[in-house]
Amino acid sequence: MSKVLVIGCGGVATVAIHKCCQVSEVFTELCIASRTKAKCDRLAAELAPKTSTKITTAQVDADDVDQLISLINSYKPDLVMNIALPYQDLTIMDACLACGVNYMDTANYEPEDTDDPEWRAVYEKRCQEEGFSAYFDYSWQWAYREKFEKAGLTALLGCGFDPGVTQAYCAYAKKHEFDSIRTIDILDCNGGDHGYAFATNFNPEVNLREVSAPGSYWENGRWVEIPAMSIKREYDFDQVGHKDMYLLHHEEIESLAQNIPGVERIRFFMTFGQSYLDHMRCLEDVGMLSTTPIEFEGHQIVPIKFLKALLPDPASLGPRTKGKTNIGCIFTGTKDGEEKTWYIYNVCDHEECYRETGSQAVSYTTGVPAMCGALMLLTGRWNKPGVHTVEEFDPDPFLDALDKYGLPRSESRTPVLVD
Ligand code: NDP
Repeated sequence: MSKVLVIGCGGVATVAIHKCCQVSEVFTELCIASRTKAKCDRLAAELAPKTSTKITTAQVDADDVDQLISLINSYKPDLVMNIALPYQDLTIMDACLACGVNYMDTANYEPEDTDDPEWRAVYEKRCQEEGFSAYFDYSWQWAYREKFEKAGLTALLGCGFDPGVTQAYCAYAKKHEFDSIRTIDILDCNGGDHGYAFATNFNPEVNLREVSAPGSYWENGRWVEIPAMSIKREYDFDQVGHKDMYLLHHEEIESLAQNIPGVERIRFFMTFGQSYLDHMRCLEDVGMLSTTPIEFEGHQIVPIKFLKALLPDPASLGPRTKGKTNIGCIFTGTKDGEEKTWYIYNVCDHEECYRETGSQAVSYTTGVPAMCGALMLLTGRWNKPGVHTVEEFDPDPFLDALDKYGLPRSESRTPVLVD
């Protein structure tokens, strides 16, 4: 019997809310609150006849802590699921602390305005000290650790697929499969085709920032940074086939480097087609990925926001997307004195996801883990005051829930390794 407040009503939230409504014995009451209330109302109306979860809706600007506090105090949820954008992580954490409520999200904090001088000063210091230059990192949210511990509240960070499930795979490997893990390669393959020459599968701003940034990986206790898209490999993915993939910086590497003792190397690869890369390079070259406002015919325009308005809404890709995703982790290390390799992954079909929830697999593979993470918190299996990432919790009940609610695991004990 729990009351949950979901903030955001985009592609990922839509899947998470569908899934919560399938587990109405736990998610007895749900409030969907977002910037555009009409989207929340539409989803609530669609789900109401199919579930016994009692759904209400609300309008909120999650950049405004006072609005959040008054919404949380009036609804009194057991948990706030932040499925808006990474820009709102800190304001929502502040509001949860003020109201004494547990918190979770699916992506770590990054600022909307990367030209803000106050943020930039902290960022540049971190780039120098840590050695990677992505705009997002855990330091902002880890700074809340003591506050959440003292308040006896749990904040679960990054509970989508990657970050999220990939860290649960690592925790499972550490608990059951290896005495010591030497290397981890996280492989994120999207074999889906939506038929457009160029579109992003989730929020274009967040997505394009991520892939146009320098890549980096963790090796022998430090970050190694490389120019964007400069390390390319080909891999033959189960049920998808051969794809080109590129090394990217990714947020879970940062926490895994701390939580997997003795790990020598952690890398993250994502597949991209040539058309996507050609478009991205061109947009970057002409300045369309910039977050700095420009003056145009008397108006201030942020190029990447204008681009977002031109591109297809990720939510509209669902009915057009065919093919599968395959996301997982390849480990090397030792068990009982023997060298060992192990690959755990999930394969997810875009069209099946769309039939079930009206969203394609990229939203589905994020929304289902968000619901399963909420389930772990609400049923007391993952409660641990403080600010934590997924690999800090017992992976077993979480992976069982993923198997049950739509993202079953597959494995190989003889995987082809990435050189
Ligand atoms: P969308 O852009 O589809 O949805 C974002 C939602 O947040 C929209 O409903 C939007 O409202 C709402 N929102 C934005 N700003 C505010 C605000 N200030 N106040 C209230 N609501 C607001 O994004 P996605 O669903 O694709 O992504 C959701 C999250 O999931 C992101 O943080 C993304 O980074 C993360 N993600 C994580 C992955 C993982 O594997 N861990 C993979 C993919 C995504 P409006 O409708 O008005 O625009």
